[in-house]
Amino acid sequence: MYLIDILVFIMGLCWGSFLGLIAYRVPKGISIVRPFSFCDSCKTPLSILARVPIVGYLIYRGKCPKCSAKVSLRYPIMELVTGLLFLITFERLLDGTAEQYIPMAIRSLILITAIIPSIFIDIDERIIPDRLSIGLIVTGFLTSLGESFFCDAPFLSWTRSLIGILVGGGILFVVAEAYRLITKRDGMGGGDIKLLAGIGAVLGWYPALFVILISSVIGSIYGVFMMIFMKKSRLAELPFGPFIGIAALFYHFISGGGFLK
Ligand SMILES: [Zn+2]
Repeated sequence: MYLIDILVFIMGLCWGSFLGLIAYRVPKGISIVRPFSFCDSCKTPLSILARVPIVGYLIYRGKCPKCSAKVSLRYPIMELVTGLLFLITFERLLDGTAEQYIPMAIRSLILITAIIPSIFIDIDERIIPDRLSIGLIVTGFLTSLGESFFCDAPFLSWTRSLIGILVGGGILFVVAEAYRLITKRDGMGGGDIKLLAGIGAVLGWYPALFVILISSVIGSIYGVFMMIFMKKSRLAELPFGPFIGIAALFYHFISGGGFLK
């Protein structure tokens, strides 16, 4: 572990803290710039110490220093996961050239920024905001467009990014329509379709198919588990976005599929 690794990890923790703010504010329509972070319960602005990622949570033992309202454990989890994903990105790319490094670092950053808040917003509100899903499509496509112009050997050319959008979004659209026709209810939302189109834009059509497959498998296992052990019968209420998000993060960061080949 070198000093630079620690710095990258700390940058990731701070970015994770910003993602916590996005997950809380975007569905409520509050500006993500101002005001500064405040307690959900008593609306007191948080002190600088309380705003330090992880440390603030530990020092105040997960409570607001003013009113003792509980601070959700999701905030330090988002910070920690983002810190680790920053570190994985950094470590994975050390051997690459700058031409390979920059587009992949951008890809990692936009995936982290769109997907991590989407997972939590979908769990709470059963929606994935357009600002995140369409944002992923646009930034993913622009990254590939820039790469097509500036790199000799782009990781994903703009044409392949476009195919990724059409295949990722298209397949899920067909599945959602088929589900709706057969069961006469809405199973998948437009948010899931746009999120997968965005993953196709950033990573290409093949990874988008992988993400559909893996998310369906873990979603089904989770659904069966919930039905057996939690006695929940209404599977239709299970949000699919978190499974898509987790599968995409798994593909890009853990399996290494999205990195240099
Ligand atoms: Zn408070």
